[in-house]
Amino acid sequence: MKKIPFLEGIKEFKNLHFRENEILFKELVDKGQNPKALFIGCSDSRIIPTLITNSKPGDLFVIRNIGNMVPPFKPDNDFHGTAAAIEYAVSILNVEDIIVCGHSNCGMCRALYEEDKIQGIELIHVKNWLRLGKDVKETVLKIYKNNPDINIYELTEKINILYQLKNLLTYPKIKEKVESGELRLHGWYYKIETGEIEFYNSDTNSFELVL
Ligand code: ZN
Repeated sequence: MKKIPFLEGIKEFKNLHFRENEILFKELVDKGQNPKALFIGCSDSRIIPTLITNSKPGDLFVIRNIGNMVPPFKPDNDFHGTAAAIEYAVSILNVEDIIVCGHSNCGMCRALYEEDKIQGIELIHVKNWLRLGKDVKETVLKIYKNNPDINIYELTEKINILYQLKNLLTYPKIKEKVESGELRLHGWYYKIETGEIEFYNSDTNSFELVL
């Protein structure tokens, strides 16, 4: 048998953390999952949704992809993994909150400015995925032109969150539920270096620390 990665960790989970939460896991099997929120985060290995929200198994329905992106609603026959998970969370699990969580030092946001490095058949899907950030980049470059002192990557990471919130509203069910007050959308910016989260405030159109 080939070497199993993380075997020590798996053992520790089984013998320690699973035991600590055994009743909760049993309940989640008996009653099924009923997460309150859909968390859309980046695949970056440094972003751990349950850790930064101190949440338990069953609390968060999670989608992670490169750059915490939300592809706009596109009802065709392609395999839309992110869209399928969004639909499931909204229409079957009836989550009450959707969090789009961007982060500092995001490789996808940086890659928008280094597209020449992403070439070849082995990166065809990454290259295509970056197209989702085209409008973000255009918006950022317009702002940057008049404010050359700002941190272009941080601005990109934050503007990217706002575009994904906008894209969520292209899903008819989300729009309907947001308008009726059944569903709330949130933009979060997680800073890896400090562990802080800045929350988007639509009243001031800015990301704010509240803690
Ligand atoms: Zn990222």
